[in-house]
Amino acid sequence: MSGRLKTTANALRRGAGIAAALASGRPTPLSITFILTHRCNLRCDYCDVPTAAAEEMNTAAVERAIDELLAAGLVRASFSGGEALLRADAPALIARAHAGGAMTSLNTNGWLGPGQLETLAPVLDQLMVSLDGPAAVHDRVRGKAGGHKRALETLIQAADLGIATSSIAVLGPWNVDHLDAILTSAAEHGYWAYVQPAMRSCFDGRLGLEPALSSGALAGVADRLEAARKQGLPVGASPGFIDLLRRAPHFGDCGTCQAGRRFATVMPEGFMVPCHLQTAAGSWPDGREQGFDVAFTQLGGPLVGRGCAIAPYQEADRVLKLEPRAVVAALWRLRGA
Ligand code: SF4
Repeated sequence: MSGRLKTTANALRRGAGIAAALASGRPTPLSITFILTHRCNLRCDYCDVPTAAAEEMNTAAVERAIDELLAAGLVRASFSGGEALLRADAPALIARAHAGGAMTSLNTNGWLGPGQLETLAPVLDQLMVSLDGPAAVHDRVRGKAGGHKRALETLIQAADLGIATSSIAVLGPWNVDHLDAILTSAAEHGYWAYVQPAMRSCFDGRLGLEPALSSGALAGVADRLEAARKQGLPVGASPGFIDLLRRAPHFGDCGTCQAGRRFATVMPEGFMVPCHLQTAAGSWPDGREQGFDVAFTQLGGPLVGRGCAIAPYQEADRVLKLEPRAVVAALWRLRGA
């Protein structure tokens, strides 16, 4: 089968899978984030993920997770960290999900080794690179000189290799005034720009937002994103996500979220959680013991919490609720900015 025919067949198969799952009403792991590691080669001021670095599943265990979730209906596999590419087997794991018919996505800080992008290009559909502002801001927040340059080079090279590219900025008082520069850079270099507010903890959403970023500041971000979209700048957020920012500091109700019913996250050691912000809120099933497909069915619900504004989760939630503006935005983002 030619590449184009295979792409079309996969898209039709994914669409049919989503339609069947939504029509049945049964919980189905349509979109799964595989957090491969909590280790990271950077130390961002706002991030507590590397402090949690501990046990990680071996390659065979992650392969089993991918295979079981594919058989259970997985249509989108997202790989994240820490820095997922610190695992030497990350490209092969992404390739396995891709070969199984899933759309693949990778979140990275963009500090890649030689040849990594070329290896990934045939099996990676979407690349999201963290980019927190202009070089001076980004490198200071992320604690590594040259990080901005490497991240930007990665975005440009990935687009040249045919991967759909986007950046994501974690907003706090350190960079909220640099939103225009973030959007202008995206327009200049041809990628979509997403933003999300910093949380006090990456594992306990109940603790809320980084306190120094006020509700008023986030409402200002929403206004600026709307204006930027009208100006033709490549704003990644769907209109629904922009509306959400105006509800800070409480973004909604976790009980209405599709986490645990249509999407979920596999943690590095093999536990399955509805989303990483729910990690500290409960005791979650171990996919290594029960099978990852079975673990997914045990996530239960409804979840308790006041929502979040984590961009990948919120966009997935809106798409899987068939919110028209989010579906259109998601399809549009699959092409270049
Ligand atoms: S709204 Fe959904 S993704 Fe966000 S913290 Fe709640 S359950 Fe997790």
